[in-house]
Amino acid sequence: MVIVRTIEALQEAKKACVGTIGFVPTMGALHKGHLSLIQQARAENEHLIVSIFVNPTQFLEGEDLDAYPRKEEADIKICELAKVDILFMPTIEAMYEADELSIGAPAVRGYILEGQKRPGHFSGMLQVVMKLLNLSGATKAYFGKKDAQQLALINQMVKNYFMDVKIIACDIVRDENGLALSSRNVYLNAEEKKRALCLSRSLKRATKLVMVGELSVEVIQKEMLEVLEEADMVEYVAIVDRAFNPLVRVEIGNTIILAAAWVGKPRLIDNLWI
Ligand code: AMP
Repeated sequence: MVIVRTIEALQEAKKACVGTIGFVPTMGALHKGHLSLIQQARAENEHLIVSIFVNPTQFLEGEDLDAYPRKEEADIKICELAKVDILFMPTIEAMYEADELSIGAPAVRGYILEGQKRPGHFSGMLQVVMKLLNLSGATKAYFGKKDAQQLALINQMVKNYFMDVKIIACDIVRDENGLALSSRNVYLNAEEKKRALCLSRSLKRATKLVMVGELSVEVIQKEMLEVLEEADMVEYVAIVDRAFNPLVRVEIGNTIILAAAWVGKPRLIDNLWI
């Protein structure tokens, strides 16, 4: 594995890549969720590039940019063991210049749910993903369904800008109790970790309702909110179609049910594709 930190070094290392390139962008503090993306990309491509970059433009004022968990040494080991070919860990200076043009997230779907709570987050995310996709020259790029709205917007960007890359959606990886893995879970103490399970439990409750034929969004949301009472604060419970348009009734095969809530220090998100 080669570790590269500049654009020039990345371009140089890429000269060895003849054939398909799989690409997995991350912000590091790698866990089994990231690893599942890396393993899938490894299996499906001749070459594999992983990036680790905590992108400042997707953090809002007052968010945890400085405190975001960083575990460079462990991340390098994980990537080595996973047979990554190129690990790209650029500096902020390598990625950005002072006065850049920017990409704006779509006016509606970029500013609801996660985008409403974090206005500007998705524009920053799309900006860095555009840069990273261009730099990697990926044939296929892998993203987790965990960040479902992010995934939908990346798909839209690739479509709107006619980008020549296939976006692969990967399933959510959970711990043995059902908690969706996240780099921010390190902020949870033991008691909070138990309460954090209310997110996945609320989604299980929704599944059960759908299985007995209850398709009303209003009814399902109400029941989910009951389960989510264990959280410190619920930010939203939403039921949308796969392109993030609102639904009144669940459409089997085209629905995502989402929850976002604060438990202790971190704000947690989880979702379920039906
Ligand atoms: P992040 O480092 O949080 O930016 O995540 C990098 C990629 O890993 C994104 O595409 C995430 O959606 C994905 N990811 C994060 N957590 C999980 C998880 N628990 N299961 C599957 N994918 C995940």
